[in-house]
Amino acid sequence: MSDSDLVLLAWSDYVGITRVRGLVSEIYPKRMTTGIGWAVAGQVLTPFEELGPNPWGSMMEVRQVPVADTFRTIDIWNDAPPLAMVLCDARTLEGQLWECGTRTFYQNALEDFRAETGLEFIAAFEHEFQLLGVEGPDAPPFSIEHVRKVPQFVNDLARALKQADVDVESIEPEFGVNQFEVTTGPAVGLAAADNPIIVREVIREVARRLGYRATFTPKPTPDSVGNGAHVHLSFLDQQGNNATYDSSQPGDASVIAQHFIAGVVKYLPSLCAYMASSPVSYMRLGPHHWACGFASFGIQNREAGIRICPSPDPDPAKQARSFNLEVRAPDATASPYIVLGSLIRAGLQGIRDELPLPPAVDGDPADLTQEQRNEMGIVALPTSLAEALDVLDADPIARSWMPELMYQCFTGVKRTEIALAAAYTDEQLCERYRNVY
Ligand code: GLU
Ligand code: MG
Repeated sequence: MSDSDLVLLAWSDYVGITRVRGLVSEIYPKRMTTGIGWAVAGQVLTPFEELGPNPWGSMMEVRQVPVADTFRTIDIWNDAPPLAMVLCDARTLEGQLWECGTRTFYQNALEDFRAETGLEFIAAFEHEFQLLGVEGPDAPPFSIEHVRKVPQFVNDLARALKQADVDVESIEPEFGVNQFEVTTGPAVGLAAADNPIIVREVIREVARRLGYRATFTPKPTPDSVGNGAHVHLSFLDQQGNNATYDSSQPGDASVIAQHFIAGVVKYLPSLCAYMASSPVSYMRLGPHHWACGFASFGIQNREAGIRICPSPDPDPAKQARSFNLEVRAPDATASPYIVLGSLIRAGLQGIRDELPLPPAVDGDPADLTQEQRNEMGIVALPTSLAEALDVLDADPIARSWMPELMYQCFTGVKRTEIALAAAYTDEQLCERYRNVY
């Protein structure tokens, strides 16, 4: 692996974009504690040219300080220099974690989860994306043709992701035209949100090197198949056992997992603004596309808001180890730190309140009658970002998960984004987000 002359100091902001500043490699080691300055007003950049409302103006600055164990060099090319990047914590000039930073938000949620449950949180994202710029006739979904149209891409991607040390498991064709999916193994704590940021940037880089563009936008065109960023999660106890699993319980979900599921279902309408945070997200979110349209719980069911993923392994020990929960509403316009941080907050509230496991729904909740949904306590998710923000605003618990200033700035960016998006047709808006994400 050759050294890079430039190290990109990176962070994920309120609109889920990885922003960077670059340090030349001789300077980088000298900046491990002080990092690089960043005018915090930059934290409220929208995916358009404008900034959202904020009190920070031209003066307030944070330091973006490298988190050493997130440093990665991807160097699989002879004709291009390596990509060297490191994720950062936003710190105040006094060295404290900045309370409005996205990574801080997640760290605080993790710490509370650990303190209140004694468990470690582990998670993995699934990455769906379209490869733009692929020539030739469309291949059938999931076919060998689909993959072998871009053999260099999938091969380079496997190599680059292994080099990125993110425990890549699969690279596969998906349902949509030139749509692919990458999955990785679960990671503990902070790495669970750091990894997906690294993975997305590696995918983008590999695509870029070959003249393609990878887009993770939730809806590349109004009629195309959507891109989800499904989250799989579970908990580990002190002995390293899967604390979400208990074969004596309904659905094999431990009591604490049942409370967590109930919390996620209860707060899912409020979570939407945190996890599906762009106007385009609501072209994807909804029933009949395996993306989810209702706050519901299911076993195996890909239309449920949160589902139990039972293990196919006949070995009981392996069954216990791989048992996990999946949440399908998130997409890549939301920062992984905000997605996982808010999910933990919702689940933790369910644990505190000892909420009972909701009834499991089989099939698409949209196919039930309204009366049946009422009986099962299943409510529809918001159908626009504006509605999602109104739901969140009206939920004193879910909005309290962010410090008030962060909440004001996060929702302010989102409302600015809605206002800017209003000038676009659906096609234009999809194009815009396709180019940004
Ligand atoms: N592409 C779907 C989504 O938008 C998910 C399809 C799948 O189950 O993998 O979430
Ligand atoms: Mg998929």
